[in-house]
Amino acid sequence: MTLPVILLLAALLASLWIARCIRLRPPFPGGDSFLGLQRAAAWWVACAVLETVATSPGAKVFWAEMAWPGIVAAPGFWALFLWSYLQGGLRPPRPRWRRITLGIAGLSWAVALTNDWHHLLYVSAVPVDGSPGAPLEYGHGAWFFAITGYLYLVMLATVVLAVQAVLRAPILYRQHHLGLLLAAAVPWLANIGYVSGSVRLFDFDPTPFSFVAMGAVFHWLIRRRRFLDLLPVARDALLDGLPDPVLVADAEGIIVDANAAAAGLPGVPDEPLGQSLAAVPVLREALGHLHRADGEGMDRLIAAAGRHYEAEAVPLLHGERRAGLLLLLRDVTRRVQAEARLQEALAALRAEHETNLRLHRQLREQAMRDPLTGLHNRRFFDELKPLLLAKAQDSGQPMTAVMLDLDHFKRLNDTHGHQAGDAALRRFAAMLQRGTRPGDAVFRLGGEEFLVLLPGMVPRQALPRIAEWRAMLAAEEAVREAGRVTFSAGVAGFPGDAAGWEELLRRADAALYRAKAEGRDRSVCWEEAGPSAATGEPVPAVA
Ligand code: GH3
Ligand code: MG
Ligand code: MG
Repeated sequence: MTLPVILLLAALLASLWIARCIRLRPPFPGGDSFLGLQRAAAWWVACAVLETVATSPGAKVFWAEMAWPGIVAAPGFWALFLWSYLQGGLRPPRPRWRRITLGIAGLSWAVALTNDWHHLLYVSAVPVDGSPGAPLEYGHGAWFFAITGYLYLVMLATVVLAVQAVLRAPILYRQHHLGLLLAAAVPWLANIGYVSGSVRLFDFDPTPFSFVAMGAVFHWLIRRRRFLDLLPVARDALLDGLPDPVLVADAEGIIVDANAAAAGLPGVPDEPLGQSLAAVPVLREALGHLHRADGEGMDRLIAAAGRHYEAEAVPLLHGERRAGLLLLLRDVTRRVQAEARLQEALAALRAEHETNLRLHRQLREQAMRDPLTGLHNRRFFDELKPLLLAKAQDSGQPMTAVMLDLDHFKRLNDTHGHQAGDAALRRFAAMLQRGTRPGDAVFRLGGEEFLVLLPGMVPRQALPRIAEWRAMLAAEEAVREAGRVTFSAGVAGFPGDAAGWEELLRRADAALYRAKAEGRDRSVCWEEAGPSAATGEPVPAVA
């Protein structure tokens, strides 16, 4: 057992152990290729161990030939792993590439094992000195140079992939990708060194060691969960696919990552990385909202360039320490606009409702009033009747009903025209309104017939009032040449003359008839109206 053999065995065990650990891990993009790489490197190292311990040149050549599938497959799998991993497993290489990699490895193996027949791989294998078990110096054939060219192309591809990833990666991941690039370059450099004849590890090709060493570094990163678990490209694709702006800032508030939607925010520069969050007004506003204690509901809403965002911040912790902040601005423009529209519609609806109410009230009022005189009409009186009586009953006060009718009104119409009649009706109504107090009620029951209710009065007390009206009307009519008007009145009292409306009105009516019969232009109380009125029967009018 020499030191080189112990080191080779250690490398072999390391690569087998790494392969096992990888198999036990949860899957990650390119995991199968990474496993393939470990197995190919283990195979390569194992053959190298056996070549070294073999003593006869024939056995050495055999193990050198056996190493070839590992030599060819390791860089291939390395490239496939990077391809998969750097895409975050989004667009993995087609299975055909794995088959091609394995096919070329198998073909190289076959060429190596049949080398004695064609010498395409090795043209010679000569011990470097006369000592027993001395390493062999190989002369190379055409297949060797062809396959070496292929392997260089593959390794160049891995470097190109890694450089691309470094250039594309956001700052946070750039370090990791740079590590990948360096790792990808190691086998390259090791192999160039070996082939050019200047670098040897114990008289041995260092390339398989470099693959094992790389595997170890990756494995360490995997165990620290800091590299393969990040799935950086998948993360990029996810973030950029989000319609909502997302920004990551470090503990100092410097933007270290931003997705495509964030770049579209007003005031956010094209290259936001490295900028301070506070330097962008819309982000400063979002932070201001979030730093207030509540952080709830409408308070988190910010508006910018015609759009509305709801801000949310997630602290990024590194252990106990606050390492940064994830700022998420949810675009809620549609919701806010819909709410505004709803509010407008509601306001319009409310306004319309109020207009309708007003209109309704107006219509009702109109329906309750007589358009000619402006007095309340019979319909209103009918509606008001129960209320008026209840009020009189509750107060224990009497109430007097005065039924009024203009005298010979038909004649006035006929002599002076309908318009003169209308004017007389208006004058009469206005006089009644002037001549009554608040609390009294005046109705035009129809035609030239009016009703006045005088709460708190008995008929006798009402008579002087009616006399006043007569005088007021007479004063107005005196200045008029044509169509002078007088009226007759019938008076009845509640509860003295009647127990209810029907009786009260009938008796006031009877008294009115009596007034007409007695010659018009006078007032008659029902209680004084005499026996025929006392029965409530109308008295025939006297011409
Ligand atoms: P009496 O003294 O017995 O009450 O006789 P009168 O002519 O006043 O009574 P009658 O009931 O015979 O006639 C009422 C007239 O009132 C008939 C109708 O043409 C008239 N009249 C009813 N409503 C109106 C109105 O709104 N305007 C006018 N100009 N005349 C009306
Ligand atoms: Mg009449
Ligand atoms: Mg009349």
